[in-house]
Amino acid sequence: MQLKTRTKSLGVLAAAAAVAALVPFTAVAAESAPAGATGYAGACPAAGRVTQGYHSGHDGVDIANALYTPIYSTGPGTVIASGTASGYGQWIRIRHDDGTVTEYGHMKERLVFVNNRVNAGTLIAKMGSEGQSTGSHLHFEAHSSTSSTRGMDPFAYLSARGVSLPCTPGGGGGTPATNFTTWGTSVNVRADARLSAAVVRTLSGPTPVYVECQKHGDTVNAEGYTNSAWSYIPGLGGYVSNIYIDHPDAWLPGVRTC
Ligand SMILES: [Zn+2]
Repeated sequence: MQLKTRTKSLGVLAAAAAVAALVPFTAVAAESAPAGATGYAGACPAAGRVTQGYHSGHDGVDIANALYTPIYSTGPGTVIASGTASGYGQWIRIRHDDGTVTEYGHMKERLVFVNNRVNAGTLIAKMGSEGQSTGSHLHFEAHSSTSSTRGMDPFAYLSARGVSLPCTPGGGGGTPATNFTTWGTSVNVRADARLSAAVVRTLSGPTPVYVECQKHGDTVNAEGYTNSAWSYIPGLGGYVSNIYIDHPDAWLPGVRTC
């Protein structure tokens, strides 16, 4: 009994020492990332015309474009709401890593759900006119925290994160938009759409990418597919065969020709 008590007390001491050793690291991490103050490298939420700005009667900005226009997360974070909401028809809320919250309303389709992790430029929804809306548009709000009721000026919020409205997804922001994801392992990114072109990078696994344009090049046979189309990915500085872009079409829809 005596021995058991001693052993236990030693265990507690060892645990206390381990906690003490961790404290300096915890303090450094908290100092380098104060909630709400650091911001993030932003991405454009949607292409379109700004049809209503931020004023006393409007807590966000309206960006109008065609039904099904892609809507992207402006920054890295976690989805905290995805569903129906009064007036919005449907909404998505994202809590970003800097503590701020962005809100997206009136969408036709939601593509991310509560607890999903997103990055700047992750495709989260398709534009719609659900709820109190007279035409297809995105209602976008930015909040200082999950408890804030009045949104911040979204122009200033996005501008502080490198995005000025109106914006073009994939341009302007610090992080390219994520239109597609690659699949497969050891996927080569080449300097041109040719198998003889230099490998500028190799992707170890599925990678979110923004495809700026596509063109025909060398025919690639892999994984049971044959495809001569290649995607130019500015964020990776080169071309990837469309075989490795996770989309059923050989020629990607909505992507221009290089
Ligand atoms: Zn609005």
